[in-house]
Amino acid sequence: MELLDGKKTSSTIRDEIKAKVSIRKAEGKKIPHLAAVIVGENGASLTYVNAKVKACEYVGFESTLVQLPADISEADLLNKITALNADENIDGYIVQLPLPKHINELKITQAISPLKDVDGFHPENIGKMVLDIPGFLPATPYGIVQLLDRYHIETSGKHCVVVGRSHIVGSPMSILMSRNNKVGNSTVTLTHSRTKNLEEITRTADILIVALGKTEFITGDMVKEGVVVVDVGITRVSDDSKKSGFRLLGDVKFDEVAKKASYITPVPGGVGPMTIASLLMNTLSAVEK
Ligand code: NDP
Repeated sequence: MELLDGKKTSSTIRDEIKAKVSIRKAEGKKIPHLAAVIVGENGASLTYVNAKVKACEYVGFESTLVQLPADISEADLLNKITALNADENIDGYIVQLPLPKHINELKITQAISPLKDVDGFHPENIGKMVLDIPGFLPATPYGIVQLLDRYHIETSGKHCVVVGRSHIVGSPMSILMSRNNKVGNSTVTLTHSRTKNLEEITRTADILIVALGKTEFITGDMVKEGVVVVDVGITRVSDDSKKSGFRLLGDVKFDEVAKKASYITPVPGGVGPMTIASLLMNTLSAVEK
């Protein structure tokens, strides 16, 4: 078994981006500027956003953190988005999800300029992904594609099973894996909560991508020998032995599944850091456009 080490791979990508930013600086070109909007005080969201800002600093991007109160109205948030769309200094931005319940996430996503949508959630970018024309790929699926690519995982002709059909992970992942690309050309089965006999399907997977948000859901008996496993799940579970009071668990029962897998992502240190790397790649391409 070999680890698909997202931390290491993301660090390599960051260094590649850092080198490109240095060249841009030397040539007097614009330094990429990423803004992150966070609404409210959700602990996990704050951790993710801070990690994104820190990554920007490392690669030499400019970054702006826009912190808004949890009770901001939808109209005021939309005004903020209009301002970010118009701000020529900002090349790309993200609105950290989830948003408070009184705000319609789809409305917000659609208000972001597709040219600055570095999370790749805007319908225009999703449409471009489906048509296989250049745009911003959704950050987490793009990160997974990069990880598979850099580990030279053969995907062509393989059976790829995706568990979870969210708009931000499962569905786009199923599309990317079925496209006629270097990482792609798989035969894809997309599964969800209504899928019958899930374990029979997961057992036929050569590549298993799991994004459902249920801790240690995929057990050893649900996979075949040699499977490549990508665990997207990140759930905080309380743990008094940790200073933070919690630890992170994936959707895959790691110890059991790792025994049968040829490659597997750890949690943490797998898909999470790759999502941030994708965000940086998308922001760099936003400024290069
Ligand atoms: P969602 O809650 O939006 O979607 C979960 C999906 O899982 C749904 O499609 C649901 O089906 C499906 N599902 C639920 N229960 C089952 C079941 N018993 N069998 C099969 N499918 C099931 O989750 P996200 O995609 O947003 O996130 C999934 C996980 O990934 C979370 O832990 C999240 O924290 C993590 N995540 C990690 C990221 C990273 O950077 N590493 C980025 C984004 C998410 P249905 O549609 O029928 O309800």
